[in-house]
Amino acid sequence: MVHPFPMNTGKPISALVMMSGGLDSMLAACILKAQGIAVTGLCFESPFFKADKARAAAVQLGIPLIVEDFTDDLIALVEHPKHGFGGNINPCIDCHANMIRRAGLILQRDGFSFVATGEVLNQRPMSQTKKNLNVVAEESGLKDRLLRPLSAKLLPETEPERLGWVDRSRLLDLNGRSRKPQYKVAEEFALTSVPTSAGGCKLTEPNYAEKMWDLRRNGQLRNPQAIALLRIGRHFRLSPTVKAIVGRDATENQTLTHSIQPGDTVMNTLPAIPGPTVLVTGPAGERDLEMAARLCARYSDVRTAPEVEIILTAGPSTRSLMVAPATDLDVDRLKI
Ligand code: SF4
Repeated sequence: MVHPFPMNTGKPISALVMMSGGLDSMLAACILKAQGIAVTGLCFESPFFKADKARAAAVQLGIPLIVEDFTDDLIALVEHPKHGFGGNINPCIDCHANMIRRAGLILQRDGFSFVATGEVLNQRPMSQTKKNLNVVAEESGLKDRLLRPLSAKLLPETEPERLGWVDRSRLLDLNGRSRKPQYKVAEEFALTSVPTSAGGCKLTEPNYAEKMWDLRRNGQLRNPQAIALLRIGRHFRLSPTVKAIVGRDATENQTLTHSIQPGDTVMNTLPAIPGPTVLVTGPAGERDLEMAARLCARYSDVRTAPEVEIILTAGPSTRSLMVAPATDLDVDRLKI
């Protein structure tokens, strides 16, 4: 899709710079600011990554920042990634193209002149080859309204350069994975606080990705509670619609207790016995509840006892079950 861009209205040239909060996007903003261009940052937020670093970067650069929610976009891409996944459950090429497509919509909405990113040619093997930078520019609909100031001299001329909005001779020709040239440029711009990397994306973390694959297999990616709980606890799949999540410390136990929704069950050991909180989500049958109670016993301080009493709370009703702690075999079979 090609966006119908507004004609230049005589307003100052303004760039919408995609900010991850990492050094590269900060440098892209600095390079454009140094040319007198009005720079606004844009970043996205989702349960898989936060905007905190982008917020801090915008403060350091003294630029305004637009923060947009990206949850639905990213879940749709995890369901159907046109260009496949990276090393884990990260659909990076599609994700990136979609973020830039969203930037194009904001450009139209708010009247920015062009969009810029901090991408560096060949910095990432999958998403930043010349071919894939081009795929992103095309599929986002921005085409040559998308400028990559850090590698621009190695890429075809873009519209902002052709129209004289940006001086191509003052853009860079960075290429590859080395970070040294970026640190040198950061010095030139007197950036006092240089971030080591942008905020991490959970979809690239193997353990987290396993739990996302499980939700995908079981058709639960659109369940906000299921996504929100992926960050905490040990996760066990009891049936396609039922999970048990076992708290690993007092903070997680508290979070699980407060995450209960209608139809869920919370389990605990007796007050005198240290043990985890277990949250059972979904329409659990008696066998599911018994297995979850066995997991609760297994991770308690009395895991070697032949039987342990577990308290089950669902809505206003409370009852107890006597169960044998789950075995290693149970854990291996059910743990995600
Ligand atoms: S690492 Fe995460 S946020 Fe970044 S492009 Fe890949 S999927 Fe998107």
